[in-house]
Amino acid sequence: RQAAFRTDLSVLLDQVGTGKESLSFMKRRIRRLAQQWATAANRLDAKLEQQWRDQKKILVHVGFLTEESGDVFSPKVLKGGPLGEMVQWADILTALHVLGHNLKISMSVKELQGFLGVPPGRGSCPLTGPLPFDLIYTDYHGLQQMKQHMGLSLKRHKCHIRVIDTFGTEPAYNHEEYATLHGYRTNWGYWNLNARQYMTMFPHTPDNSFMGFVSEELNETEKRSIQQNKVNNMAVVYGKEASMWKLQGKESFLQILHRYMEVHGTVYYETQRPPEVPAFVKNHGLLPQHELQQLLRKAKLFIGFGFPYEGPAPLEAIANGCIFLQPKFNPPHSSLNHEFFRGKPTSREVFSQHPYAEQYIGRPHVMTVDYNNSVEFDSAIKEIMRTKVEPYLPYEYTCEGMLERVHAYIQHQDFCAPEPPFIPANLSRKGSAGGSRMMGPLFVPLPNTTALGWASNVTAPSAWPPLSSLRLLVSQEGQSCVDACQSAGFICEPAHFRFINNKEALRRLDVQCEVVDSEINHILPAFSVVRQECGLQREPLLFSCAGHSPKYRRLCPCRDFRHGQVALCRDCL
Ligand code: UDP
Repeated sequence: RQAAFRTDLSVLLDQVGTGKESLSFMKRRIRRLAQQWATAANRLDAKLEQQWRDQKKILVHVGFLTEESGDVFSPKVLKGGPLGEMVQWADILTALHVLGHNLKISMSVKELQGFLGVPPGRGSCPLTGPLPFDLIYTDYHGLQQMKQHMGLSLKRHKCHIRVIDTFGTEPAYNHEEYATLHGYRTNWGYWNLNARQYMTMFPHTPDNSFMGFVSEELNETEKRSIQQNKVNNMAVVYGKEASMWKLQGKESFLQILHRYMEVHGTVYYETQRPPEVPAFVKNHGLLPQHELQQLLRKAKLFIGFGFPYEGPAPLEAIANGCIFLQPKFNPPHSSLNHEFFRGKPTSREVFSQHPYAEQYIGRPHVMTVDYNNSVEFDSAIKEIMRTKVEPYLPYEYTCEGMLERVHAYIQHQDFCAPEPPFIPANLSRKGSAGGSRMMGPLFVPLPNTTALGWASNVTAPSAWPPLSSLRLLVSQEGQSCVDACQSAGFICEPAHFRFINNKEALRRLDVQCEVVDSEINHILPAFSVVRQECGLQREPLLFSCAGHSPKYRRLCPCRDFRHGQVALCRDCL
């Protein structure tokens, strides 16, 4: 069946259910953004020009909101607890509904069992028949629950699963045996999924799919009125929980800030002002989302203290015409040195509070400075006060952008179909010869699929992203493919690894190989210049954009991307 866009959200609102603050928050959000979604649906409908869209049967099982997982989030919705996840789930549900799919929503193990048709009870009753859904969106909690209640049948059906995973899961952590053997085991990873089945909140490593969420978009009249009513010396602090204000050394930069600006906060409190919040701060208490928007419309500056990491609020602030000022992290924060990231299945290094804001938005909307340097901080504040900025929202965070991206994933990502033959082909000692020594990054552009003769004899007319988007590149020693592609203006595309994991690619790049081995290692395909050793990947699940190693230069499958929609290549729609 063909899916038809929906602009009426009442059925969805009924499906979400009642009885918890988290659900009320999500429903308020869905209602508030209903008009934006409807407009976006109409625009995308026109843009896709009658393109056929399959209607999918989709189950959304929100694991972290189930009682069985302990649901620590719901009781904190009105108390300054994290809201980013709820923002994202509300938007995912809305996007799937608006795209016209056949949606079932489960927020308890009982509902999950009902929808899957497994008898109630634990473990021993696997799903026997076919899976009654084309796609299941869940999270790590939900995945665990499905394992408990579907038993072994989960393995059979896991290609249908998508895991909403805020911070992402890198391939090395996802591969159970490899993670166990090589010290990448965490509380979360080891599900042996295709890493693109994990869907993140921001475009972190492209090993995962970028799901995202939306922020409110302003029309031209609203933009103009915001710019006219900006209060140049008004700052709002990012941080709705008092503990976020407990930063070492914050007194000094807050004092500087206060010297120039009126400082506002939206910190949750019960009866008394939280002691962490200085007396000169005008604290509004935790605000409903639409009231926070109003405050941001007046403010000139939205300032982060380093936590929370990578939330939605800075995008909302920038979309409402604020400049976002945030601390640079030196050394970067990661699972090795920061409690928050410890045990998360990623090696990502975070160089500022909100890397997306820094890398994808940047000046004049975002300023990233060293807060320990009071001169730098002082001049940043002065610069912000005299800089005029327009409200800005990257396309990928608009409703239309999210619909476009989710549409493309649903129609094109297929982890169930057998991959075309995976060939680290014709391995032999004394590999390819010839050519010059590698100096800088090197491209082998492949303008169209006819250039595919070299790629393991694999033809892939149905590959998505299409092969026309592939650019082969070599990283520097120690550099990941994430960085190598990015520094050349491209993005790493894990789906393309299988086309460059062969001797022909090495030959194309004039790589000197004394030996070409095929191994299980997440930095492969790669080669060592000094030892003239080349390695191809033997385990497709370990193809990794994120991997790097000091002695190796990696073969990187990069691709082009659309301006403002990094998840999609030019020919991806
Ligand atoms: N938010 C809110 N009231 C406030 C402060 C924040 O409703 O007083 C909302 C904000 O609009 C954003 C959400 O909280 O959409 C999550 O914000 P944040 O960036 O703080 O991420 P979190 O750490 O909560 O995931």
